Amino acid sequence: MKVVVTGGAGFIGSNLGRELLSRPEVDEVVALDDLSTGSRSNLDGTQVRLVEASILDRDALDAACEGAGAIVHLGALPSVPRSVLDPVASHHANATGTLEVLQAARRAGGPHVIVASSSSVYGANRELPKREAMRTAPISPYAVSKQATEAYAMSFGHTYGLPVLAFRFFNVYGPLQAAGHAYAAVLPAFIDAALRGVPLTIHGDGEQTRDFTYVGTVSRVITDAVTRTVTDLEPVNLAFGSRTSLNVVVDELADILGQRPAVEHVDPRAGDVRDSQADNSRLRGHFPDVTPITLREGLQATVDWFRTLPAYAS
Ligand code: NAD
Repeated sequence: MKVVVTGGAGFIGSNLGRELLSRPEVDEVVALDDLSTGSRSNLDGTQVRLVEASILDRDALDAACEGAGAIVHLGALPSVPRSVLDPVASHHANATGTLEVLQAARRAGGPHVIVASSSSVYGANRELPKREAMRTAPISPYAVSKQATEAYAMSFGHTYGLPVLAFRFFNVYGPLQAAGHAYAAVLPAFIDAALRGVPLTIHGDGEQTRDFTYVGTVSRVITDAVTRTVTDLEPVNLAFGSRTSLNVVVDELADILGQRPAVEHVDPRAGDVRDSQADNSRLRGHFPDVTPITLREGLQATVDWFRTLPAYAS
């Protein structure tokens, strides 16, 4: 089977490409990526074919999707703060971009389409754990664009019979996640700072919680969904119900590094939610066999990967 991964040169996409190609059912992976936040080097050493183009480019989408058995749509401008600064750019890439990918899927004969939504859609709804049937209440432009992503996918399932699946990712982390830029996610930002010996920046008191999910686990679940053509007309949380505060993450990192990193607290960020934790019953229904690795193991693997990079070689 040929699989197209939009955003395939990004963090999750480049991990996913490797996992897909390890399965006998998959014989070709095409990454369609405009390299706006991803990078060519993420695909070094893989057989993934990179098409450098935007999901807003219909001709490029049609060429890439020809003969595809599945499309995994990860291409997006991630990050809440990026969307707060430029909501229109996030909307174009994430909402309009999804619509273009779904239209391309129809033109390609209706392959299986999996899209990436986000736990940020729960937003101001503080109930925990987050169940998919709960009222969504996005509080950032990014969250609105991800709500549009999943809603468009579901609507194409209902209206055109497209076989669709929308995952709500929580905080995915692991190797190949970029650090050292203004919109870096919290875990790579922490590891980057700790390895460079500069203070870790915590927005607020550090008691905010997240359901951290290792990228290897996420890639396995998505690959399983591709090979078994798992579909659903409701979104599915892709996280395992853990709830870890940033202060606990710092404790774990201190343990792994053998020394306590310095921490500085700054103001909470606009658009950030306080707590996040998935109910994973729907995920378990579709993927009863998946076993996530622990945060400790995932953090260790991520630190080990960082240490292979020249910038952090000790
Ligand atoms: P990433 O920035 O590493 O990957 C996104 C990729 O999309 C990048 O390679 C980027 O170059 C590409 N891209 C952006 N605009 C594009 C366009 N117009 N055309 C083609 N490619 C484009 O981020 P990621 O963490 O790998 O995120 C992948 C997906 O998962 C995104 O849709 C994101 O919203 C979603 N998500 C991620 C997390 C997380 O914790 N990492 C959480 C929730 C949702």
